[in-house]
Amino acid sequence: MKQPASNKVGFISLGCPKALVDSERILTQLKLDGYDIVPSYEDAEVVVVNTCGFIDSAKQESLDAIGEAISENGRVIVTGCMGKGDDASIIRKLHPKVLAVSGPAAYEEVVGAVHEYVPPVINHDPYTDLVPPQGVKLTPRHYAYLKISEGCNHRCSFCIIPDMRGDLVSRPIGDVMEEAERLVRAGVRELLVISQDTSAYGVDTRFRTGFWNGRPLKTHMQQLCEALAEFGVWVRLHYVYPYPHVDKVVPLMADGRILPYLDVPFQHGSPEVLLRMKRPAAAEKSLERIQAWRSICPDITLRSTFIVGFPGETEQDFEILLDFLREAQLDRVGCFQYSPVKGAKANDLPDQVPEVLKQERWERFMALQQEISSARLQQKVGRDIEILIDEVDSDGAIGRSPADAPEIDGKVFLDGATGLKPGDLVKATVTGADEYDLWAG
Ligand code: SF4
Repeated sequence: MKQPASNKVGFISLGCPKALVDSERILTQLKLDGYDIVPSYEDAEVVVVNTCGFIDSAKQESLDAIGEAISENGRVIVTGCMGKGDDASIIRKLHPKVLAVSGPAAYEEVVGAVHEYVPPVINHDPYTDLVPPQGVKLTPRHYAYLKISEGCNHRCSFCIIPDMRGDLVSRPIGDVMEEAERLVRAGVRELLVISQDTSAYGVDTRFRTGFWNGRPLKTHMQQLCEALAEFGVWVRLHYVYPYPHVDKVVPLMADGRILPYLDVPFQHGSPEVLLRMKRPAAAEKSLERIQAWRSICPDITLRSTFIVGFPGETEQDFEILLDFLREAQLDRVGCFQYSPVKGAKANDLPDQVPEVLKQERWERFMALQQEISSARLQQKVGRDIEILIDEVDSDGAIGRSPADAPEIDGKVFLDGATGLKPGDLVKATVTGADEYDLWAG
């Protein structure tokens, strides 16, 4: 084995916010162990590639990244969602020179592999070296993702995440709170709570009591939200299912303690389709929950994602979905055309929907939702809103309101506001709106 001349590691991070959190953890550990993270193939002694295996195009991107790292550097360690099961075998077959392969959230394995191929610097002292106290973050400094659990107990027929990441494992609430506290101390103004199923937090531990700063706290979504609210920063909840206990978190939103925002992946409105999808919540109950949330917190922003063209979806199912949209009046919506994912149970379902029909339904869905979103955004014109600034350039500032999660929702443009900086929290009056974004001044 070639003896490394330095302790420099290259790192390529692909995939969703959950994979990004894994990357941040691995990078933090590597820094604590005395490694330098370098931005070029030539300087690195080894390159770690954190892969994404969610859909076929993401897998191809991961395989391409591994191939490039091998040809540019030669010493490559692979980790992440593609590092498990059949995909791991594909990686080894296509790229036999890869030094080690590990699965998602396998922090010890991947850091262990780096240690094996680039031994850590012996004299490094993790308590005196310059690792930022909040760890290494790949998101901008003023917002951070806070992952509260791994895996999922559901078995939706289109999804292979439980096969890749296993059943739900909740992080101890004390660890989550300590991480959040470190992030806030380091200047983070917005915490984005993520997991595969945020409303199920703690189910696997029977809501075990943990401790934060000596105070007992249950491993439970409501207690977590109440505790996070004490930091006085924006707290945004993602991947929440419409279970009745979510109603107890909505009053915290009405009181301004956490952001009035819920990201709820409904996926469809037809009970028949939801049944075939093996989704955890039924459609009629979802509409009831939405009504209940809006009666507690009229200003709540609801975001969701949907799939059109799922196997067996009839014109009638699709019409039911459009009716659901009309009734639900969601603020932010993403829509995907169903496409099979290798290994998912839905691939074997009968009555696959032809591509042209998927496209046609997607267009009808988007046209309706655009009308709904623009009407809802228009209602904000003239109102005062809070804005967290993300970017500033010579034309002005761009930020987000409590209704906008980074990267997936809209933006707020503050033309001419050049005296601001990222992370500033300002108030302004909404002066205009289109289907996605707002203008304020
Ligand atoms: S809830 Fe369903 S879609 Fe979400 S991760 Fe679990 S199995 Fe996959």
